Amino acid sequence: MNYKKLIVDSGKRMAGSGLTVETWGNISVRDPETGLVYLTPSAMLYDTIVEDDVVVCTLDGKIVEGTRKPTIETEMHLSVYRNRAEVNAVIHTHPLYSMVYAAQGKDIPLIIDEAAQIMGDVCRCTEYALPGSQELADNCVKALGEKANSCLIHSHGAVCVGENMEGAFKVAKVLEVTSQIYYMIEATGGKPVGISDENIAAMQDFVKNSYGQGK
Ligand SMILES: [Zn+2]
Repeated sequence: MNYKKLIVDSGKRMAGSGLTVETWGNISVRDPETGLVYLTPSAMLYDTIVEDDVVVCTLDGKIVEGTRKPTIETEMHLSVYRNRAEVNAVIHTHPLYSMVYAAQGKDIPLIIDEAAQIMGDVCRCTEYALPGSQELADNCVKALGEKANSCLIHSHGAVCVGENMEGAFKVAKVLEVTSQIYYMIEATGGKPVGISDENIAAMQDFVKNSYGQGK
């Protein structure tokens, strides 16, 4: 697997998805074989990034390849990998509807089936911390906990994780759609009914064990 190419392609994909604007957001992937982490460079437009701009570092932050400065949220990415062995991709975005809730310090509940199936747990919003700080990294680890695949960073954006890049993108898209639906429900004076813990568990089990070709 060419992980540098995966980072370059994923940057373009994120920029094209509308989940972030300009140079904001950042992406990383972990090679499960070597344990090395591949990160987007800091403050570069995603359509200009080439493979040589990707920064490669160890789990404790030692840069082993690349001449660019890595994303300022490098410690957040590394902290998530250190805490969650099954996670191999992390996407940090600034998506519009999720930001409506991030700016209010509110969580996003699992109000639709797609969210219940793949988000692992409620999308919790962190306390406020400055961008690039150790505190922000620690807050994200805490909000993700053992099983949530997404969290909101207070007044800032979203972090979505997956076992691979496809999984992390799926969570990023479902989180934003869920936030948009939640916003529309509240904007029209409604309240989501919610899905029972029992049904959430049943759907998560189905996705894990039965859903998809060849299962
Ligand atoms: Zn950000």
